Amino acid sequence: MTSRQITQAFDELVPDPKCELEYHSPYELLVAVILSAQCTDKRVNMVTRELFKTYNTPESMLTLSQQQLGKLIHSCGFYNSKSKAILEMSRDIIQKFDGVVPQTIEELTSLRGVGRKTANVVISEAFKGDAFAVDTHVLRVSNRLGLTKSDNPDKVEEDLKQFFPKSSWSRLHYQMVLFGRYKCKAQKPDCKDCPFQKICSYFLKQK
Ligand code: SF4
Repeated sequence: MTSRQITQAFDELVPDPKCELEYHSPYELLVAVILSAQCTDKRVNMVTRELFKTYNTPESMLTLSQQQLGKLIHSCGFYNSKSKAILEMSRDIIQKFDGVVPQTIEELTSLRGVGRKTANVVISEAFKGDAFAVDTHVLRVSNRLGLTKSDNPDKVEEDLKQFFPKSSWSRLHYQMVLFGRYKCKAQKPDCKDCPFQKICSYFLKQK
């Protein structure tokens, strides 16, 4: 299938792709994405709805100790490393960027606790830039569709950016995430009526 055929198929499968994390500012999104590692967006939203009532800026977040923040985000899992990452990232935003979340991949990834995937999500979602964030769903779906042969997220990002036009990157990211989350699951994907059966390595292997 051509890139155009694949984007058309995704437009039919996921016509209204959007971020399922709730946020009101780039900083809130950054915190929510850090919390979402190994956790569902639903759980993150439950936690951030309370957290952001008081702690929704780097300055206010830094009034918390790591232990206090850990308690507030406990149910998201990995609360020790996540609270450390959020506080370090907040400190860096204040010290390096005058309290304002930066907008480039280089600047965002210079923040402690912020990896490339998180930075790409913030660029495409909060700043409406062209970015292709690769999470576990994007990685799995793109391998099944033969769009890459790598399990290295940076290489997968590179392959996807070469194959698809820039204007479609952000939209495709969410389409792949939602397709992977609800249909093309890691275990027992729902292959019935899937438009990718002819090119899907998983489906062809099962056959
Ligand atoms: S055929 Fe099945 S495994 Fe392949 S892309 Fe479709 S849902 Fe995923």
